[in-house]
Amino acid sequence: MTFNLQNNIQYVKGVGPKRAKLLHHLGINTVRDILFYFPRDYISKITNKRIVDLKINDIASIKAKIVSFGYVSHKYMRTRFQLIISDGSGYLTCIWFKTTPWLEKQFEIGKEVIIQGRLKYYYNTLSILHPDFEFVGSKAKGSFWAGQNYLPVYPLTEGLTNKIFRKIILNIFKSGFNVLETLPEYILKNQNLMPIKYALRKIHIPNIQDDISLSRKRFIFEELFYLQLMLARRKTHWSKAAGISMQIRKTYTTQLKNKLPFNLTSAQKRVLNEIVKDMKSPYQMNRLLQGDVGSGKTIIVLFAMLLAIENGFQAAIMAPTEILATQHYFAIKEFLKGIDVKIGLLLGGNYKGKKKLKNDILEGEIDIVIGTHSLIQKDVVFRKLGIVIVDEQHRFGVIQRLSLSQKAQVPDKIVMSATPIPRSLALTVYGDLDISIIDELPPNRKEIYTSWISREKKPQVYDFINKEVLKGRQVYIVCPLIEESEKSYLHDATNTYEKLKTGAFNNLRLALLHGRMSNQEKDEIMHDFKNGKIDVLVSTTVIEVGIDVPNATIMMIEHAERFGLSQLHQLRGRVGRGAIKSYCILVAYGSISEEAFLRLNTMKETNDGFKISEIDLEIRGPGEFFGTEQSGIPRFRIANIVRDRQVLETARKIAFNVISEDYDLEFEKHKSVKEKYNIGFFKKEKLFSF
Ligand code: ADP
Ligand code: MG
Repeated sequence: MTFNLQNNIQYVKGVGPKRAKLLHHLGINTVRDILFYFPRDYISKITNKRIVDLKINDIASIKAKIVSFGYVSHKYMRTRFQLIISDGSGYLTCIWFKTTPWLEKQFEIGKEVIIQGRLKYYYNTLSILHPDFEFVGSKAKGSFWAGQNYLPVYPLTEGLTNKIFRKIILNIFKSGFNVLETLPEYILKNQNLMPIKYALRKIHIPNIQDDISLSRKRFIFEELFYLQLMLARRKTHWSKAAGISMQIRKTYTTQLKNKLPFNLTSAQKRVLNEIVKDMKSPYQMNRLLQGDVGSGKTIIVLFAMLLAIENGFQAAIMAPTEILATQHYFAIKEFLKGIDVKIGLLLGGNYKGKKKLKNDILEGEIDIVIGTHSLIQKDVVFRKLGIVIVDEQHRFGVIQRLSLSQKAQVPDKIVMSATPIPRSLALTVYGDLDISIIDELPPNRKEIYTSWISREKKPQVYDFINKEVLKGRQVYIVCPLIEESEKSYLHDATNTYEKLKTGAFNNLRLALLHGRMSNQEKDEIMHDFKNGKIDVLVSTTVIEVGIDVPNATIMMIEHAERFGLSQLHQLRGRVGRGAIKSYCILVAYGSISEEAFLRLNTMKETNDGFKISEIDLEIRGPGEFFGTEQSGIPRFRIANIVRDRQVLETARKIAFNVISEDYDLEFEKHKSVKEKYNIGFFKKEKLFSF
């Protein structure tokens, strides 16, 4: 019998009701589901290394005999199941921290196995932790898989084995199935991609190494292509969405230009031109504004807002935290001194004057409203909103919601990112926006001298800080957030502050800033610091984004080994904001991990935020890059935008070509695309297109 993809998995030979239930746990209900449940790896029977030649970090595939096995427990180590094998050249230890009786039952002394995994030192012994393995035993001889050089390894659940899984897969291929091609013929041909049916066979049952890479490439391409197709459609939709056509009236914008204490960099000018062009066009602007810390994004969006205001509109900026909103408020107020534009700061909660502010927004008495997410509440109504700036690190989809609440108008939008975003990520998460990058720092900036020290050197750093403060400089000392259970040995903000106040800095003006303080307290402290009334500010990472005090020239970070790379760079960006030489001192404790080493070294070696974000993405992977909160990064089945950058670029180019010539996917050659798109993506696209 030939299967249809929607056939219930239970009726495939070798499944039955019991196994069907286990498969359901993996999300597999139909023949289609299992065919698209791709191996996570392959065991290669082409083994060419001897144990004696193995080195740490090798991914090894070794054929050897079992010498001994059993549980090992030791006072200082986790109990583990250990298997020792030998190929005559040496011994290798395999370790499982968690086993099942079923796993243990399979081993026999003298039995031949192929073991595969990455080599690590575990308590000074070269070992493989939780290896994949396969018996070379006689039972399998003559069977299909015994004759295969590559065995697929699937991510499984208890009760299912790879052996069973492979059998089921094989049975489906033996019976045959119908599957429709989901990529156009001409794209397959031009891109040298395997047709779907062939690729399915090769990804599950490869004969040679190329089968694995080429079949995977086809599905990676497909996955990225459809996502880019959706982004291309959204982008096209927006580029045609009726918006406001602003005109250059040279009133407020010119006033700001005339009073700026500096010249815009050429990158700032270029980006401002891109924005103004969008605002003049009769279509809606949807733009991502990127730039390294300190590259001068704020002034650019201020120009954009003034342009909207001189056209009779209001402007809004939404910041991720109240501190940042407040900071924007003061920075913008400063820039606007002497210019007749009214600004308001809208914070969360109830406070005096809020009601009046909301009323003024409604009446159009306020030109620029700065706030947090409180801006998108229903009871905040603008008289005539012309531009929205969202300052954020991740995409929450709030701009979409904000525009929904402004049904009558379609304001221009700028998403401003505080962290430089690697290109592969920008194309994925913000792939439907136009992108402007300020790739140049103002000329007065000096490289921030960065050093990395151990705790023993701290007294010298304190001396140095004392001297710098005497010269009139200000200092940040940032401490990590500490969980209650770890408190004993770590240097948290409160402890550090108390110690320094009576110790090394007893002559200086010290203040403490942390997230549990009230907003008013925080604002007061920030204000005092900005006005030079505080010499040293000991703080948690609440100062991470956007704080702007040009006179602060030293950033000391305690337990720098615990911070992420982008976060370290953001923190460092709090100094070096003026013309004075600045320093970033990273204090690391204890023996640090390889990754932490890489992070600290990267900080020492470069000041380039885009370079740093690329390395950070590589270390942490796309899911973690923006931190733990919702990041807007889609879940991929097989693609990995870091590893598959090249394919991503190609898939994007082709998807945008398709949409530019055939927005509605009406062409005969795009029939298969339309079918798949309508099932999986059309709804998602609508979610964003309002
Ligand atoms: P970020 O891109 O990190 O948001 P900001 O907009 O906060 O950077 O700008 C950092 C500092 O540099 C601010 O004090 C700002 O006034 C100043 N600045 C911006 N543009 C220039 C320029 N072209 N020349 C000199 N200083 C500038
Ligand atoms: Mg800023």
